[in-house]
Formats: sequence, C-alpha cells, structure tokens
Amino acid sequence: MNRESLSEKLRAISVAGKSAQELYTEISEACMSECGCAVRKLSERRAYYFSIEYLMGRMFYNNLMALGVLNEARKIFAEKGFDLNRFEDVEDAALGNGGLGRLAACYLDSATALGYPLCGFGIRYRYGLFRQRFENGRQIEEADDWLKTWGDPWSVRRADEAIGVTFADMVVTAVPYDMPIFGKTVNTLRLFQAEGSPEAEKISEYLYPADDTEEGKLLRIRQEYFFSAAAVGQLVQRYVRKNGRQFERFPDFHVFQLNDTHAVFAVAEFLRLLTNVYGLTFARAVGIAQRTFRYTNHTILPEALESWDMRLVERILPEIAQVLKGLHLYSKRKWERGGCPADEMRQMAVIRGKYFSMANVAVYISEKVNGVAAIHTKILEEQLFGAAYRQMPEKFLNVTNGVTPRRWLMLCNEELSAFYDKRLGYGWRTDLRALRGLNCDDADDLAAFAEIKRQKKAQLAAYILSREGVALLPDAVYVAQVKRLHEYKRQLMTAFAILYLYFDLKEGKLPDFTPTVFIFGAKAAGGYRRAKAVIKFINDIACLVNGDEEVNTRLQVVFVQNYDVSYAEKIIPGTDVSLQVSTAGFEASGTGNMKFMMNGAVTLGTMDGANIEIVEASGGRNNYIFGARVGEIEEIKKYYDPHEAVARNLKLKRVVDTLTDGTFQDEGGELKEIYSSLFEQTYNSPDHYLVLYDLPKYAEALLRANADYRDQTVFAQKQLLNATRSAFFSSDRAIEEYAKKIWKIEKLL
Ligand SMILES: *Cc1c(COP(=O)(O)O)cnc(C)c1O
Repeated sequence: MNRESLSEKLRAISVAGKSAQELYTEISEACMSECGCAVRKLSERRAYYFSIEYLMGRMFYNNLMALGVLNEARKIFAEKGFDLNRFEDVEDAALGNGGLGRLAACYLDSATALGYPLCGFGIRYRYGLFRQRFENGRQIEEADDWLKTWGDPWSVRRADEAIGVTFADMVVTAVPYDMPIFGKTVNTLRLFQAEGSPEAEKISEYLYPADDTEEGKLLRIRQEYFFSAAAVGQLVQRYVRKNGRQFERFPDFHVFQLNDTHAVFAVAEFLRLLTNVYGLTFARAVGIAQRTFRYTNHTILPEALESWDMRLVERILPEIAQVLKGLHLYSKRKWERGGCPADEMRQMAVIRGKYFSMANVAVYISEKVNGVAAIHTKILEEQLFGAAYRQMPEKFLNVTNGVTPRRWLMLCNEELSAFYDKRLGYGWRTDLRALRGLNCDDADDLAAFAEIKRQKKAQLAAYILSREGVALLPDAVYVAQVKRLHEYKRQLMTAFAILYLYFDLKEGKLPDFTPTVFIFGAKAAGGYRRAKAVIKFINDIACLVNGDEEVNTRLQVVFVQNYDVSYAEKIIPGTDVSLQVSTAGFEASGTGNMKFMMNGAVTLGTMDGANIEIVEASGGRNNYIFGARVGEIEEIKKYYDPHEAVARNLKLKRVVDTLTDGTFQDEGGELKEIYSSLFEQTYNSPDHYLVLYDLPKYAEALLRANADYRDQTVFAQKQLLNATRSAFFSSDRAIEEYAKKIWKIEKLL
C-alpha cells in the first residue's frame, strides 16, 4: 500500500459543488485503488472463513485508519471546509445478528493487520439486520435498506467469477462481491449475491428469515447451501485448473474454518464434488475433507443447535442428502470397527431420528474443533460433545474469543489511545501487551484517565440526547447492558434489580447512593415474543423511574433504539460498569464484555463465558462477581422453587409483582406472560434461567459497585487495571492461536 499516493489522491479531491454522497464515493474509491496489492498466489496456504454473518459496521473510518490516513484525511477535508464527521450518517453494514457476526469481522481485521492470508465467504444480503425503533415502548422492526443512501463503494462486483449453484428445482447464479480488508496485507471478504430469477433472488434477500414454517426452513437451507457451495465450488475449480485432480494436496493449500454449523453443507458439497464429479472414492474424499475442515462451536443452547429435517434436504438437495446419508453410514462403520459403545455412536451420529445433525457432521469431519472460552470448551468436552471427545480427544481445543483493538479502542476511543501514546509510545498499537507497562498507581495518570472517562461519558450523553431525546444525568455512574435480547442474557433480571433500587430510593433507604444511569441496547428477534415483552417492560420501568421526581435525579433508565456496531462504539467507551449477567453456563464467551474491559469499564456479572478469564486477568477486586456458578446449577435446579423464593423474600416479591399488580399497563398481556415464564413450567422448569434465584445477589453487587464509586480514584484504578490487562482479549491474540494451532498458516509478510 502506498500511503503517500493515497494522501495525494485525497488532497486532489475537490469538495466544491459536491454532495456528501458524491464525496463519500470519491474518497472511498481513492481508498479502493489501494487494494491492488492484495497478494494472490495459489502456492500460498490460506485459511477460508465460512460464516453466514458478518457484522462489519461502518467501513469508512475503519478503512481510512487501516490505510493510515484517517487523521490526515480529517485535516485535508477540514481545510476544504468539509467535516468528515458528516459520514457518521452512513448506514452500518449489518449483515449479521450479533456476537457471531461481529467475531467474524474482528477476525478478518486481525488476520489482515497481522499479515495472515484469511479470506471470508458469506452472503450479500439485500437487507441486513432489521432496524429497530420503539412505539409506546414496543419494538417496531423496519427493513434495513443498507445501500439506500450511500451505496456500497467498498465492494467490487465480480460478475466474471460468478458460479452456478444447483437445487432440484432451480439453478441460482452466485455473483461475488469482493470487499477488501485493509491492514498489513489486503484480504478479501467475498459475499455472494443470488441472481437469475425472482425466486433465486430471495435467497440473498434477508438475513435470517423466520424459520418457524416449512417454507422458512427451506429458504434457510437454500441460503446455507448457496454460499457454501459457491465458495467450495470456486476453490475446487481453481485448484483443478492448476493442479488437476491431485486432491491429496488440496489440504496443503486450503483450510476451511466453519464459523458455527451454518456452512456445514460445505462439507457435503466438497464430498459431492470429489466423488460424484471427480470420481474419487468416498473414503478418499472423506480423508481429504478431514484434513481441510475445522469447526468452531458457538453455543450449547439446544434451540440453536442446527438439525435439518432429512425430508426437506432431500426435496431440494437430493445429492447432498445422499452424501450425508453416506457419511452417516461411513462414520458408523468406522466407529463400529473401533469398538465404540452403541450409546456413544448414537450421540455422534450424522443422522439422529429424522434429522441431520449439522454439529455432528462438523465434529466428525474437522481436524480441530474449538470452543470460544475456557469454560465453554470444557462444557463441550464434558457434555455436548462428550462422546466425540472421548473418542477423539486430540481434535478438541479452546481458543477464547477476542475483539479487534483497532475498532474497539483506537477508533472508538481516540482519547484513551492518545493517553497511552503519551505514556508508552506507539508500541501498544501493534502489541496490546505493552499496556501492562503502565503503572496504575500514579495519581496523575489516574486523574488523567478519570478525566478521559468523564469526557467519553459527556460525548455519549450528547449522542443519546440527539438520538433518543433523553438527557442523561451528567455526574452519574453509567451502567450498561447492551447485547441481543435473550432470556439467558437476563435483561429481565437487570430490570428487576433496577426496581429494587427504585423502591429502596423511594423509601429513603439508600442515603449514600451515587446517582446511576442504566443504559440498555438490544434487538429482539422478530418472532421472539417474550424477548419483546422484556423490551416493553424495561421501557415501562424507564417511564416510571425517569418520570418520578423523587428519584429521577439519582436513578435514570434509558433503552436506546437500534443498538448496532456504531452505537456500540459510542456506548462502550462511555460506560463505567459493564453488565454481563447471563445464567452461568449459557453464554459461550461473549465479546461485548471484552470491548468494555478494553475501554476501562469494570465487569459486574456472573462467572460465565469469558467473564471468568476477564476476572482472572484483571483481578477479583477490580470486578463485581455474583450468582450461581456452573458447577452449582444442577444441584440448585433440584430444589429451587421460585414460588418459595418470593414467599421468603418480600422485596423480591414486590418487584416481581409489578408485572401483574397494575404498576404498569398490560393491555397486550405481555407482562403477565413474563410472569408465567417465572412461575410456570417453561422449557424444563419454571424460571429456567434462575432470574429470581440470582436477583438478590445481583442487587447487592450493584450496591457494592455503587458504594465503591464514591472513591473516584480507587474506582478509576479498577477501571484502568481492566483496560491495561485486556491484551489477552484482543483478536490479534486469538488469530495467532488459530494460525498456529488450528490453521497452521504463515504470515505473508
Ligand atoms: C460485540 C457486539 C455484540 C456481542 O455482544 P455480547 O455482549 O457478547 O452478546 C452484539 N452486537 C453488537 C452490535 C456488537 O458490537
């Protein structure tokens, strides 16, 4: 890349008479002219990332930063009278739901920054994750027409490389759109768009279409096969052109990383091509696949483990169904010969009942299988994939997730970055471990850090005022829970904890309480009624609290609309306390927790996912941990009775009763439904996620943090210790682990 020539080009762009959109396109195109140096040598061993989601966020500032010209560009255009902040209106590329898709984006960023050859494959959805707004406190979803205003100057359509994907009832053209990822090298995120007929176009129309109907399930299968087959087809074709049918060497040049099971059809397509098209035996094809594929598991939630009805797969992908059945028999025979016990074989089988188990295909075929936090990998080994772990322990390993420090620190927190530059030089920017060199006892440093936090909070307050029309209390503790809305993440428990504080404040029981602002951000899946009810409940609470003059100078609640990557970039640096309160054992890793840590928020949460490792890295005294542990939950479930819990604890009863006692209007019956979920048999048990079990300890933990905050220097030190101990949670560290232990790839430069 040539920074000088790019600066020249930027300087040459005139702003006179141009619309912001025109300028946006011109600046982006200048940057795009830099992607010519993408290294494209077939001799290179490369890793390919298969993910049905990429939550890229806004590309503009990140790309300018990656190209080394962000500050310069700001200056150049300011001199011409144009403020680059104007582009904060540019739509996010939200081709993902949450953590999984954001992880894919962070990994592309890190691999590229480090110089590793990693290319992504996915779907170019016409509409990304829905946009959310609230009407009377309820979520309204709107289609995310992400190309509408600003277009997509960051992608190059490659019609010359289009490839056909065949279904029983139609042939679809997969047209690649290549998006460069800038860093030490240039990698490519290749997103396929489905074309050919109105039917075909539906395949890449929506991210995660509702799959509660058969129609929806078929569409989902089509999406998964569509991008997997397009990617595998291209790579195999390219390989054959160069090497002929010597497939034994295919795994020397290709590693296919499955980001969860959504691309497991890539396994079947790979086997189909090698056997049905290129004539290899099934056994040889499986052997080659087993050296090519890797699999990362992201969840143990039973409802999120994909298994596809065999009848549906047979209907639209008969050959693929045949291959999967073949794999079922093949693996079964292998196990039998190895003397594997029958019940273990059943657990590992490709076909379970009338369904294909996509996770079992992935585990069987992959050379390595990894979980995303130490505790999660342990659960995989001991429970979810217990049988496979006993049979093939050498496959399993942990790689704790990470987040890119470029977007999640350098870009979103220039103030903290400058603070580090001044004290440590620039070395930390390429190796976050250098942050450990900062002495967190120095009074001046702590004061400077506290001042930066205050500034970021003021910026956040200004932003929320402009977006939501709510003026946040300026000198309060900012406490945030921002993430997808899900019962296991327990936003409901936070809602109840706020009511605890509210009633105590009303009764004058908390004389020393430091004013506190609770910030929520979350989208609920369109069909997830109970999650939507929780949004309404929290908005009801916000109305009650913010409208109550007895408390609203000390307690405030705001639920921001349309939480996305760009909103996260504002909220995270402006937060004092990061809420990570999932039921132990349910959050595989979390990555939001890491972004907060990196920006100097303390974690208030449960011993779940990567929280455990965060506390280990930054110290128990610098975080607030409460709640049932993973090892205790099974025992608790044996005797726990939520009726008894509220009967014994009147405060608990009081907050829970607000769901039904008329405190809030409930004409839609949503709150009543939440109430039932706590006391009636849902999933396996009432209050399946132990909301009422952990709630009293949660409220205590919040009060402990609140009391500690009174000594602002001590609290700033806890925060700075978190920030400076966050290197392990950089995706640069995670990618080094993938590169060395799983992919065995070398840096290009
Ligand atoms: C990081 C991120 C997530 C994941 O957050 P968790 O707290 O780990 O669930 C979800 N959405 C957005 C927009 C993010 O940036």
